[in-house]
Amino acid sequence: MNQKVVLITGCSSGIGLALATRIAKDEKKRFMVYATMRNLSKGEALVEAAGRTLGRTMEIKQLDVCNEDSIKACVDSLPERRVDILISNAGMGMIGPIECQSIDDMRSVMDTNFFGLVRLLKEILPDMKRRKKGHIVVISSVMGIQGILFNDIYAASKFAVEGFCESLAVQALRFNLNISLIEPGPVITEFERKVYDEGLKTDLSKADKVTADMFTNIYLKNYKQIFETLGQSADDVAEHTFKIITMENPPFRHQTNTLYTPMTTLKYADPNGDLPIDTFYKMVFEHDKVFNASLNFLKLLRWRKGAALTGIGRGSTN
Ligand code: NAD
Repeated sequence: MNQKVVLITGCSSGIGLALATRIAKDEKKRFMVYATMRNLSKGEALVEAAGRTLGRTMEIKQLDVCNEDSIKACVDSLPERRVDILISNAGMGMIGPIECQSIDDMRSVMDTNFFGLVRLLKEILPDMKRRKKGHIVVISSVMGIQGILFNDIYAASKFAVEGFCESLAVQALRFNLNISLIEPGPVITEFERKVYDEGLKTDLSKADKVTADMFTNIYLKNYKQIFETLGQSADDVAEHTFKIITMENPPFRHQTNTLYTPMTTLKYADPNGDLPIDTFYKMVFEHDKVFNASLNFLKLLRWRKGAALTGIGRGSTN
């Protein structure tokens, strides 16, 4: 059987774990999944979720996106070094005022989220070009399109990813390769909990009182509610991504959460860029009651529409 080889990064938890499992459990067994993680000792949850697919349509391998040798060793270990579908998923978050964050910590976010992808492609893209076959799928974020208060560095890392992929996509077309950016809104995973816990621990002594108050009493206070209201599950994002990899003509961008789409649409509605910034400002600082009421309304909408809120872009599935 001519199975497609899928390599996924960051599979010890969250979206990566859900995605590796979903693809390996494909009823038609169309894929051989290499689910990779930085630290193999953290593979317990994946092993459990993989069940009988392990050793059949899934294998677990070590890969640290911040280490070129580890990427090369992993790709070298694959039959003919072949990767048909690369899913760049490993990532980390960071929230808070920049005056309270170290340059080293900011670098680690860029190194993982942006250079991690660059390192993977330096190793895998030349082979894909040679074969004139391949799909590069990148788990980006709606924050790759639109910055959000106190997510300055994380959004910058995802903007870098989006700019990089947009530039590369034109060259990729010449080699018959597809690139797809998956753009989830909030997803309820370890990521959300880790980022929130780190946020709570932020030493705000270097921030002025207004900024510290904004971070603690506005941003962190609303964080949980935003995730509860708008948050998707990792399985939901995995299902969207699965549909994208089975399309004949996969889209370049795909947002997984239609509840979030009106926010990103603001960006395209005003070429001056003021509309989204003014809207966010008013929502956060002038109309917090309207903001909360909107979140409650969205909660109700979501409850009524349930899973019917998903929508996939152009192309047909195969
Ligand atoms: P997660 O924390 O559960 O998963 C991230 C994974 O990346 C972890 O398994 C982690 O170990 C791995 N990782 C980190 N550094 C690595 C490295 N150097 N090498 C290999 N693996 C490494 O969180 P998640 O929500 O599943 O995040 C997956 C992706 O989704 C990330 O790129 C994230 O930016 C993106 N995303 C998440 C959300 C969200 O709200 N959770 C929203 C939009 C996009």
